[in-house]
This record gives sequence, C-alpha cells and structure tokens, in this order.
Amino acid sequence: TRPIELLNAALSGTKEQREKIQVKDAVVHWFKCDLRTKDNKSLHLASEKAKEKGVPLIGMYIVSPQDFEAHLTAPVRVDFILRTLEVLKSDLAKLDIPLYVETVEKRKKIPDRILELLDVWGASHLFANVEYEVDELRREASLVRACLERGIAMDVVPDTCVVSPGELASGTGRQYSIYTPWFRAWVAYIHGHADVLNLFDEPGKNPESARKKLRKLFESNIPSAPENKKLTEEEKERFRSMWPSGEHEAHERLKRFCDERIGGYSDNRNFPAKGATSSLSVHLASGTLSSRTCVRTARDHNSTKKLDGGNQGIQTWISEVAWRDFYKHVMAHWPYVCMNTPFKPEYTNIDWEYNNEHFKAWCDGKTGYPIVDAAMRQLKHCGYMHNRCRMIVGSFLAKHLLLDWRMGERYFMEHLIDGDFASNNGGWGFSASTGVDPQPYFRIFNPLLQSEKFDAGGEYIRKWVPELEGIQGNAIHDPHARGKGNEAKRKGYPERIVDHKESRDRALARYKQGLGRD
Ligand code: FAD
Repeated sequence: TRPIELLNAALSGTKEQREKIQVKDAVVHWFKCDLRTKDNKSLHLASEKAKEKGVPLIGMYIVSPQDFEAHLTAPVRVDFILRTLEVLKSDLAKLDIPLYVETVEKRKKIPDRILELLDVWGASHLFANVEYEVDELRREASLVRACLERGIAMDVVPDTCVVSPGELASGTGRQYSIYTPWFRAWVAYIHGHADVLNLFDEPGKNPESARKKLRKLFESNIPSAPENKKLTEEEKERFRSMWPSGEHEAHERLKRFCDERIGGYSDNRNFPAKGATSSLSVHLASGTLSSRTCVRTARDHNSTKKLDGGNQGIQTWISEVAWRDFYKHVMAHWPYVCMNTPFKPEYTNIDWEYNNEHFKAWCDGKTGYPIVDAAMRQLKHCGYMHNRCRMIVGSFLAKHLLLDWRMGERYFMEHLIDGDFASNNGGWGFSASTGVDPQPYFRIFNPLLQSEKFDAGGEYIRKWVPELEGIQGNAIHDPHARGKGNEAKRKGYPERIVDHKESRDRALARYKQGLGRD
C-alpha cells in the first residue's frame, strides 16, 4: 500500500467519528513546510473552525534536529527556516495567535509530544497540510488514529501542490510518468475547476481573551540552530543578506519578478549570468509562498487571463512551477524513489566508479571544466545554483565522472537553501537518466558546448572562478586547450580531471552494460 493511500484510508475511515468530536478549548495548526499565513489551506480551515466554536487558534512548529539530519537539511536551509519562524511568529502575534515552537530531539517522539501538547492545551482539533514524503505520510496516518483514540480530530489537507497528487490520471487511469501529457492534463484540470486557483484567506484574529489565556505560549522562543547545523558568523551574514526570509519578502519577490522579468523568462531563463529566473524556490520549498499564489499571479499577468496563450514568458514560467507539482505526484505514486532506488529499476545495475578524488574535485569546483566549477562554487557560496547549471553538473557527475548520482543528490540536499526531496530527486533522475522522464542515457551533455551556448561571454564563469578572471575570448570555456593553459595554471586553476571524449565513451559503455544491452 502506498503511504498516500494509508493516509487517505486513515482520514476517510475515521471521518464520521472525527466529525462528532466537540471542539474543546483550542484548535491547533501544525506548521511544517508551510511557513506562511496567506493562502495556507490548513491554517485557514483551523481558523474557521476556531472562529465557529469561539475558541482560540494556536500555531505550533516542532524543531527536530534528528529530522534535519534524516532529511539532510542544509545548514543554510535550517537557518532560513529558523529566521522565517521569527517572522511568522510576529505576523501571527498581530492576530493574537501564538506560535509555539518546541525542540524535540528524536523524530520518532514528535507524535507523542504533539499528543501531550494537545492534551495540555485542551485542544480537540489538529490541522496540518499534507507532506508527500514517505515518512511524513506514514507518521500522519498513524497520528490521525492516535488522535482519535484521545478524542481529538486531526485533519490533514492537500495544499502544497496546485493540483494535488491523485487528481490527474491518463486516459487509461494510470499515473503519468511523462511530463508533457501530464502537463496538458494539469492545465486542463485547472481550467476545468474554477476554484483550484482560489486563494485561502489569512486566519482571523483570536478572541481578545486569547492573549491572556495563552500568555505562556506567546513567550515561546525560536531556538538557535542545532550544533550540527550551525553556520559560521560570516556565513550567517552572507546568507541573510542574500536570502531575506519571510512571506512578505516572498510576495515582494514574486511581484517584482512578474512586473519586471516574467515577460522575458522564456528567452532568458537558461542563461545563468542573466539573473532572469524568479529565485523563488527557497520560498516554495519552505512554504513562505504557495505555488497556487505563484500560478494565479502569473496567470493574472497574462493577457489571456489563462495559463495558456498570451505571453510566452508567462506560459513557460507556469510550466516550470508545474514541474514542482509533477515531481511530487511522482513521489506520491512511486514512493520507492524516496528509498534510494532509481525510478527505473533497470538502472540499479550500473557499475559506478566510487572515485573520492573526483567527487571532491566536483564538490570543490576543481574539475578543470570552468562551467562545472563555476556552478559548484555558486552552490557553496549562495546555497543555490541556476537550473541550467544543476543539469550540467548533474550530468557531469553521473556521466563524465560515472559517480553514483545519489552522491550528487545527497550533496545537493546538504547544501541547497531550496533543497526539496521530490524536485531534487527528479532533477537528479533526469540528469543521470535514471529517473522519470529522463534524458536518454546516450544523450550526454557536452560541458564545453553548454558553456559556449549558455555562458557565451563567460560572465558567469568569471564571476565564480576568479582564477580565470583575466582570460578573454572563448578560451574562458576551455583555457588549457585554447592557449591560456599557462595563465590558468599560474593562477592555480586545475587541468581537466577527465577527458571529455574518453569519459563519454566510458559512460555509454557502462550504461549499456548496466542495462544488459551488449
Ligand atoms: P524559476 O525558473 O523561477 O522557476 C520557478 C519555480 O518553479 C522554482 O522556484 C521551482 O519551485 C519550480 N521549478 C522550476 N524548475 C523546476 C524543475 N526542473 N523541477 C522542479 N521544480 C522546478 N528545485 C528545488 O526547488 N529544490 C531542489 O532541491 C532542486 N534540486 C534540483 C536538482 C537538479 C539536479 C536539477 C536539475 C534541478 C533541481 N531543482 C530543484 C529544480 C530547479 O533547478 C530549481 O527549482 C530552480 O533552479 C530554482 O530557481 P528559481 O526559483 O529561480 O526557478
């Protein structure tokens, strides 16, 4: 049974009993990857319920160091989440809603601690949005039942996707594994369901008495980062100025993008030096912004007031936001992708190289391929990498270095501020040709051609690889072979760690062998 089905069964099997539960002293919304007040379905429903029954609403967030560890959450992402909680706390306080934050060391203890808290607060109704990762679905399925045993109703509602997993099926009733027909169905679904892009109201104010009654909860502090996820002071300052947190910032960013850049998105998005994309992934991953709000705002900017037709940039951007939904649908339907297993099982047999020196050179941006090195250094410095470059370095790791793509997937999660399991896993599957809707394995990105095409003037490379700053012309893409080897070497820039043609041939042979197609 798929974990999503376990949760659905738990919810539908207990619906009648849950509906009979009388609201007692409070209603609780459990924040997870939805750190916002605007357009948050579960928070909205919790607020409605509290208002209807005249009881206060409490916001709750559980920090679990072990959960951060299990999810490989990058320190930069932990810092972003904790900073966002500060903003959320202050936004909720303006509505007289407390945000209670507690650290629970072991992730297995989270459900028990939640039950204790609900008991202490006399809360008889718990609301949360669905998360589609396997562990979370299983946990929520059993929490729904455990709550019921204590006379508490738990509602877990779909919110993170524009169109929720399970809503789209092919003509034969099967889940799509190819993006293009899936996307057509996604657009048709939204056009056919007028309410899909309706936004949920912010929660209403708590009754005046809540301030006094819940005084202690208002005093709960946001903890600092756990020991193993701490940033240095320099990193904190750097990331904080690059990535301001909170939903106001997210909305500002979305507005600026839609007013100024979305029109040119289609033409410019693939050029990393142009800064033409929205940089909203961190907000979508932390839930400071909903994907519904993104698609609705973009649609409203379109002359057709629809997802299709009209401005090409807007259409393309919407189709990119849809990729996020697509990978969550894939994860919900084929949950084994969460278990270190390639989407295509036949790719389990590839004989990877486990060359640690190569892996280190890749991580440190010292492969001798300037576009790869620039991208890997951008990742370290910003906690972010441009999408085109994610594909280039992903392909380079899996094909040129023949390193197990899971090493790259893991490294990305450990460093990305926007680390999101489904999108990251999907991106790695695409790049390594082991995933759903992948590049065929024999189509191998040539990093030199990618560099010449998408960073023709070399601005991106010069920005991130200072050793190559002084190199002009097209030698920037391959200084050693294009007469600038000595200059590059003097400045400490490494020679290529693998030859393009040799490694391409090796990858083709090894993939073919792994697939048993000799
Ligand atoms: P924009 O181009 O402005 O796109 C808008 C939004 O659409 C993004 O914020 C993102 O939420 C979504 N989106 C765009 N492209 C994709 C895509 N290919 N797959 C899924 N969603 C997409 N994205 C993550 O959010 N988290 C990850 O951990 C992640 N890992 C990746 C790993 C690899 C190997 C690859 C190839 C891609 C990965 N992506 C990931 C997808 C994509 O690179 C980022 O979403 C994008 O670069 C974020 O920049 P942006 O917000 O400016 O995107």
